[in-house]
Amino acid sequence: MFIAANWKAYVDTTERAKRLFSVSKRLALRYATQHEILLAPPAPFLGLLAHGNRSGVLFSAQDISTATGGAHTGEVTAGAARSAGASYAIVGHSERRAAGDTNDIVAQKMQHAIGQGLIPILCVGEHERNENAQYLTFVREEILSALTPLPHKDRAKVMLAYEPIWAIGKTASEAITSSDLTEMILYLRKVLSDVLSGSASKRARILYGGSVEPDNARMLAEGTGIDGFLIGHAATQPESFQALVKALV
Ligand code: PEP
Repeated sequence: MFIAANWKAYVDTTERAKRLFSVSKRLALRYATQHEILLAPPAPFLGLLAHGNRSGVLFSAQDISTATGGAHTGEVTAGAARSAGASYAIVGHSERRAAGDTNDIVAQKMQHAIGQGLIPILCVGEHERNENAQYLTFVREEILSALTPLPHKDRAKVMLAYEPIWAIGKTASEAITSSDLTEMILYLRKVLSDVLSGSASKRARILYGGSVEPDNARMLAEGTGIDGFLIGHAATQPESFQALVKALV
């Protein structure tokens, strides 16, 4: 499984960042044949941990700028993230969308990420499940607006993270059910098949995120068709992250 840990702003000291990295290195080594482990730390810790990293742990930026350089105080460009040691970039996370990232902005960030050789982890997901299934159209639009501007050869590089907003930051009991997740993954592959070749849409990696904890990880992994998880709060404590990774072995 591909296990991506989004530390968000939960981790705010060098000590905690280093401790989580050392736990992650051990897990990546121990479960090298079963899992790939990716960390998305806040930008200063990305530079600290990823630069010169020779472990099996992969690194991602939590977001990248629409700017590619110049007079943009506070922005982290795709080039800077790449140079700091990231090989992935989370793009379109719901918390960035809530802070103003539109589908157009997300599309620009996708192009910058790919332009710098970063693999984008494109986050999509509905605010709520409305009765007449309008949420499906909403998610479809999020995917198509981000992928369609990319050349065909680049679309296949993208990883998708389905993160229903109503399920983020809660507890395992409030996460999606495995039957709803199975249905959604089938739908997402169908949407991908509209913009990718048949084999690329089958191969594309799809993660699930939203209140994945040690208690529900296995149930959500089995038989749902997902390739991994994007994990928030449960990945920011060494004990729960270890328990979660072990639950998936
Ligand atoms: C997220 O926001 O990407 C996420 C999955 O958060 P949590 O696991 O805390 O729900």
